[in-house]
Amino acid sequence: MDRDILLILKDMSEKIGVNAYIVGGYVRDKLLNLESDDIDITVEGDGIKFAFMLNEILNGDIEVHDKFETAKIKTRDFELDIVSARKEHYERPGMLPVVQRASLADDIKRRDFTINMLALDVKTNQIIDIYNGADDIKNKLIRVVHDKSFVDDPTRIFRAIRYSGRLGFKIEQHTEWLLRKSISDGDIFNVSADRIMNEIYLILKEKNPEPIVKLMKYYQLDKELFCGIKINTTNLNTSLEKGNTLLYRFLLLFYNATNEDADCLIRKYNLKREYLSGLSDILNIKMNMSNLNENVSIFNTLKDKRIEAISAVHAMEDLNIKQAIEKYYDLAKLKRLEINGDDIKRLGLQPSPIYKEILDKILMDKILGKIKDREDEIKTLLHYVEKVKRGEKI
Ligand code: ATP
Repeated sequence: MDRDILLILKDMSEKIGVNAYIVGGYVRDKLLNLESDDIDITVEGDGIKFAFMLNEILNGDIEVHDKFETAKIKTRDFELDIVSARKEHYERPGMLPVVQRASLADDIKRRDFTINMLALDVKTNQIIDIYNGADDIKNKLIRVVHDKSFVDDPTRIFRAIRYSGRLGFKIEQHTEWLLRKSISDGDIFNVSADRIMNEIYLILKEKNPEPIVKLMKYYQLDKELFCGIKINTTNLNTSLEKGNTLLYRFLLLFYNATNEDADCLIRKYNLKREYLSGLSDILNIKMNMSNLNENVSIFNTLKDKRIEAISAVHAMEDLNIKQAIEKYYDLAKLKRLEINGDDIKRLGLQPSPIYKEILDKILMDKILGKIKDREDEIKTLLHYVEKVKRGEKI
């Protein structure tokens, strides 16, 4: 398939007479013998026109950003990002760059590290390596090509440690000096909260985020950025079969957050509702940890909590708590009652919050093993409905 796409690209660039190059991660990963289904293409000329013509052959979904002269094509096997070769300059550190069309050499120059600065000419199949990126790949080194790189775009601090942790590469000595200086100068505070959080998500979405998070801690990036929370660096390579793995890993990362920390984090990064409820679920479970000792209280403590929060507690706490949570999972299998609100309605009660109260009570009886099947559920329901009708407490 790789060969096919290369041939198509060669054909296209010859037919319309433009130079096109595969750049960045795809070339890096090829030299490392790693699979990659993300292909970045730089076109010297009109990238959008190239993208439309390419998609006539590939027949994928195309999305165009006229303003940035970029296009994305998604096919079954690949995701291709196509841009017109450009140069960039930064009017203010940390802000997004101002962009104008340019040659391949300019386009390469704007990139982050030498390992990402290789280009493959699709016509000749030759690798163009202006900054000795192939040597750095061989020597497993991450290197910037100018001293203002981290100042211009401090998100590159995260990118450097992401590649370092993912590929097992060292950050080259001078680059590391620049990175440390940028961190201690607080350049990262020139970057918007959204862009910082996006970098955290990219780290947590990696196959193995743990070594990367360890580097974050090693370079003390957590100290100022996360409201003083001491980030956790364990269990982060695990995923969830059911539930949202990104949220689960986020909750693990900030497992040590107190109530005030969580508030601060939510405000600072304007996090989505599920992140707030996940953090508060963990705090709530931690507060009730001593109750996790018998069925009813285990069930009551965990029943409304997010699966990501429960799983994070399971990963982080000792054997007793792990066992209590496993018991909850067993109990939760019983969670479904066979009856529902319609059965209550049929018995003549007007819908009201009493429905939930009755169903919760029957569920608890089921968890405690007092009732087994639908017939038992109906019998118990009748009992409770009669009580309500007589004006008694259930
Ligand atoms: P990955 O394997 O993580 O997808 P990638 O190299 O494809 O790696 P992308 O984030 O998709 O990374 O970016 C594509 C290319 O764009 C990079 O290889 C790099 O050359 C360039 N790039 C991305 N972000 C930056 C940045 N902040 N500064 C400079 N160049 C960047």
